[in-house]
Amino acid sequence: MRGLYIGRFQPYHLGHQAVLEKIADEVDEIVIVIGSAQESHTAENPFTGGERMEMIYAALGKADLRKRCIVTTLQDINRNSLWVTHLRSMVPCFDVVYSNNPLVVRLFSEAKVTVKKPPLYQRELYSGTAIRNLMRQDGNWTDLVPGNVAKFIRQINGVERLCIVPKSDSFEMPSHE
Ligand code: ATP
Ligand code: MG
Repeated sequence: MRGLYIGRFQPYHLGHQAVLEKIADEVDEIVIVIGSAQESHTAENPFTGGERMEMIYAALGKADLRKRCIVTTLQDINRNSLWVTHLRSMVPCFDVVYSNNPLVVRLFSEAKVTVKKPPLYQRELYSGTAIRNLMRQDGNWTDLVPGNVAKFIRQINGVERLCIVPKSDSFEMPSHE
């Protein structure tokens, strides 16, 4: 039995990890799909598809879980009605999908795919949006992601990128001390 877990993972956090561990109790293998893989260097999608893949492998470590996961990427097609067919044409076969995202749930349900909604783990804390905000505000985000993911984000100067990319190049008055 194979489960599919899809997300943007911007970044991969402990909520994702908790879901993954729960899925691992229910299926033999998990296909982890990194969605919107073409996006990067924006406020909503700071990390590349490849960087997000590195994060997931860093979080999986070398344990049994890693051997049971297939990590792959999927680009957007911007046509929701064709998206499930697009996904099926690009990723390994699966029997059941795990998602809490309303659009993802709806699209798979309409395609008659079994969808399970994993429980939410402290969603106000473990959310990509909240973590990106903390990164921008110099808050404590490192405890919200697996240790190896925090290490990787530091290695690639990820926080600096996130702070710089939304800035405009319009004229700003130089500040006088
Ligand atoms: P963003 O705020 O950027 O959308 P996110 O935390 O929702 O980030 P996604 O990559 O969009 O992360 O989520 C992938 C999947 O993981 C979705 O199905 C989402 O509902 C689920 N998920 C995210 N956070 C949690 C959590 N804390 N507990 C359970 N499921 C979660
Ligand atoms: Mg989300």
